Amino acid sequence: MFEKILIANRGEIALRIHRACREMGIKTVAVHSTADDNAMHVRLADESVCIGPPPARDSYLNIPAILSAATITGAEAIHPGLGFLSENANFAEMVEEHGFAFIGPTPEHIRLMGDKVAAKAAAEELGIPTVPGSKGAVVSLDQAVAEAARIGFPILIKAAGGGGGRGMKVAQDEADLRRLVPMAQNEAKAYFGNETVYLERYLEKPRHIEIQILADGQGNAIYLGERDCSLQRSHQKLLEEAPSPALNDEQRRRLGTIATDAMKKLNYRGAGTLEFLYDNGEFFFIEMNTRLQVEHPISEAITGIDIVREQIRIADGAPLNLTQDDIKIWGHAIECRINAEHPETFTPSPGRITGYHAPGGLGVRIDSALYQGYSVPPQYDSLVSKLIIHGTSRNECIMRLRRALEEYVIAGIDTTIPLHQRLALAPDFLNGTYDIHWLEKFVRGEKPS
Ligand code: ADP
Repeated sequence: MFEKILIANRGEIALRIHRACREMGIKTVAVHSTADDNAMHVRLADESVCIGPPPARDSYLNIPAILSAATITGAEAIHPGLGFLSENANFAEMVEEHGFAFIGPTPEHIRLMGDKVAAKAAAEELGIPTVPGSKGAVVSLDQAVAEAARIGFPILIKAAGGGGGRGMKVAQDEADLRRLVPMAQNEAKAYFGNETVYLERYLEKPRHIEIQILADGQGNAIYLGERDCSLQRSHQKLLEEAPSPALNDEQRRRLGTIATDAMKKLNYRGAGTLEFLYDNGEFFFIEMNTRLQVEHPISEAITGIDIVREQIRIADGAPLNLTQDDIKIWGHAIECRINAEHPETFTPSPGRITGYHAPGGLGVRIDSALYQGYSVPPQYDSLVSKLIIHGTSRNECIMRLRRALEEYVIAGIDTTIPLHQRLALAPDFLNGTYDIHWLEKFVRGEKPS
C-alpha cells in the first residue's frame, strides 16, 4: 500500500481525502495557494507545499508545481479530488509518466467521458439508453434544423466540453434554434475551449438520478445504489438524497445492472458516476463523471462503504473485495450543500467566520473545512460545508435534518442554510414529488405546478 499521498485539492474535499488516508495509515501532503496558508487542509496534513498565488490557474491548476511538490515530498500517488484537475486526462497522463499513481481512472477513460458527444456514443454502444438527440455533433445550422425536426421541440443545445451546468440553451422552435446554436457555439468556445455543441430533446419534468459505481480495472464492478439530485438551481445541485424517493427495488436493480455491465465491458477502473434523467419510468443517460462527486457521502451513509478508501485501494492495484451481494442499502440519507452565498439572491459571500458551531448527534456528518476565525477566500467555489444526515427512514432523516440545520451556526457570512430550512418544510419535498425544475420555482416563490 502507498505510504504517502499528495492531495491536489483544497477545502472540504481535501480534508475528506486526508481522513481516508489517515485511517489507512497513509501520510498526506497538502498543496495550497497563498490564499490558503491557514486552511484546514494544510493544518491537518503531514506536510504541505505552497504551489502558487491565489488564482487557481497559477496554483491548483498548475501541473508542473503539483508534480514538483509530489517529487520533493516523495509522494507515491496523487488524488485529484473533484473539480480542478480531476477530469483532466493530460494531468492523469503526466502523473503516471512521472512515476506516480493517479488515484482515478485511466487517462483514456477520462478523455472519452470528458467529451460528452463521444461519451454518449460510447454509452449507446455499451447498451445504455440515452436521451434522444442529434447523431453526434452539430456541424451546420441546416443539419441542426433537420435533426430538431426528427427529435421534436423543445430542444436543448449542449456543449460537448460542458460541465457545471453551464452553457445549455433551450430552443422552443426553429427560429430559436437558428439564433441559439451560433451563440451556444461561441459560448462553448469561450468557456470550454471547444465550440462543439449537440442537441438533445429537452425533457420537461424529469428527475436527475445517478448511480455510483466502483470498478477495479480487473473485470469487477459494483454499484452503491443511486442518488436523486433533482433539486437544482441553474443546473447546479443543492440537496441530494439516497435512495431516490421515485425508484423501487426493481428499477434500482435494473439501473445498477445496466451501469455495472457497461463498466465491466469498458474495463473501467476507479469510482465513477453515471448520470441519468428519469422520465415516465424510463432512464436516459446524460453523462458520466470519472471522479469522486460532491454528493458521494450519501451513498457512503446508506451502504457503509468508504468510497475514497476504495479509490485508493483500486489505484494501488487491489481487486475489489466486495461483491454486489455485500452491498446492502440501509435507511435514508440527505446532503445539504451549504454555500457561502446569500440564500435568496445567491450573491457570493466570502469573508471571515466570526462564530462557528457545527451540529452533532446520531446520524449527523459534517464535511467542512470551516472554523471560527477562518476567512473564506473569494477565489474559489462557494461550497463551504456539506451537512449529511442519515436516518432509518426518509421521515426520520428529514426530522433529523431540520434539527441539525437549527443547531448549525456559521456567523460572519451569508450561507444557504435558511434556504435548506425552508426546503425541509416544503410539502413537495416531504412528498418527494419534485423534478429538476421544481427548485427554481420554489426559490422564486412561485407555486410549483
Ligand atoms: P453538466 O455537465 O454541465 O453538469 P449535464 O449533462 O450533467 O451537464 O446536465 C446538468 C443538468 O441539466 C441535469 O441534471 C438536468 O437538470 C439538466 N439537463 C441536462 N440534459 C437535459 C435534457 N435533455 N432535458 C432537460 N434537462 C436536462
